[in-house]
Amino acid sequence: MQLVDSLTQSRSELQAIRRDLHAHPELRFQEQRTADLVARTLTGWGVEVHRGLAGTGVVGVIRSDRPGRSIGLRADMDALPIQETNTFAHRSQFDSRMHACGHDGHTAMLLAAARHLAVSRSLNGTVVLIFQPAEEGGAGADRMIREGLFDRFPCDAVFALHNWPGLAVGQFAVSPGPMLASTNEFDIRVTGRGGHAAMPHLTVDPVLVAVQIVQGLQGIVTRTRNPIDSAVLSVTMIHAGDATNVIPDVARIGGTVRTFDDSVTDLFERRIRQVADLTAQAHGAKATVEFQRTYPPTVNHPAQAEFAARVADGIVGVDNVVRNVDPTLGAEDFAFMLRARPGAYLFIGNGEGAHREAGHGAGPCTLHNASYDFNDELIPIGGTFWVRLAEEFLR
Ligand SMILES: [Zn+2]
Ligand SMILES: [Zn+2]
Repeated sequence: MQLVDSLTQSRSELQAIRRDLHAHPELRFQEQRTADLVARTLTGWGVEVHRGLAGTGVVGVIRSDRPGRSIGLRADMDALPIQETNTFAHRSQFDSRMHACGHDGHTAMLLAAARHLAVSRSLNGTVVLIFQPAEEGGAGADRMIREGLFDRFPCDAVFALHNWPGLAVGQFAVSPGPMLASTNEFDIRVTGRGGHAAMPHLTVDPVLVAVQIVQGLQGIVTRTRNPIDSAVLSVTMIHAGDATNVIPDVARIGGTVRTFDDSVTDLFERRIRQVADLTAQAHGAKATVEFQRTYPPTVNHPAQAEFAARVADGIVGVDNVVRNVDPTLGAEDFAFMLRARPGAYLFIGNGEGAHREAGHGAGPCTLHNASYDFNDELIPIGGTFWVRLAEEFLR
């Protein structure tokens, strides 16, 4: 691997920061200590720091005397409400809070790059270091954009890295199109007319209607969607009734829809409304549907994805850069940044768990698992990627 020397040398310093962050995880929009640490560290290296976007967001700016383009590099800072089962020294100091998605490592990799770039200043243009809050379900990226991120800090392109368990250390993976899915939630409320279970003819039974709606919804996936378009519709909640001898007034159905394309999401929303509405009507009941779009799909821009892949080629060799990786149905709020600016999102291999040390929990070292830990070997690899990406982009 062709790593930047200074990043190999500074690994233990950055590893200490990463482990400190791991021990002090903060949930979405509460990343106060994390933001303080990031801002203080950047300032100490002479990086211009701006705070307050989306509450706890931190933006570092590294300018050169020579004018040029500007590139945005994004890391996320928030943790998850998970009880950590690891018992090693840097385990979470708090109940039900854990860096189980490796955002501690993402922050450390971007800081590693900042440390090098701040000293070398070997750039023709501007690097915007974006440390965002609330990636996990809080749409912190969207809020930073709405509060003026790209107006105050113009970026010609934006990039993000996510560690990926199961992908070997020293490998990157990227796709010129969709990487992650959209997330959308629906809530259907079926209103009938309750009454005695022994006299159903005097009621409008919302339970029967709800069951038929659930079956009808699966028809959207199998009969309405073009089989070429990947999509998931899962009904995950049905709530109705409290007694065996009472037909309730109301039944509720909840679930999620995930797609890689807005037009497919549009189709699902339209058909869910039709199936719910018309099925209810057929039985004399009434259905109301709430359909909420949480995160759009994370779709890379082909030119920027290939540019990033070529930069990775130069670090780990072309055989270790997976192009056209299969997308997954997880979601990511970097999607909002890719709607606002061209750019790309890449996976960086976190390995199979060989970095596990004494005190790791018994579970797998996978994202959102209580025994996960970020692999510190990635700090100089990811840091080198950020440095080379910025240098090449601003060349
Ligand atoms: Zn996550
Ligand atoms: Zn994550």
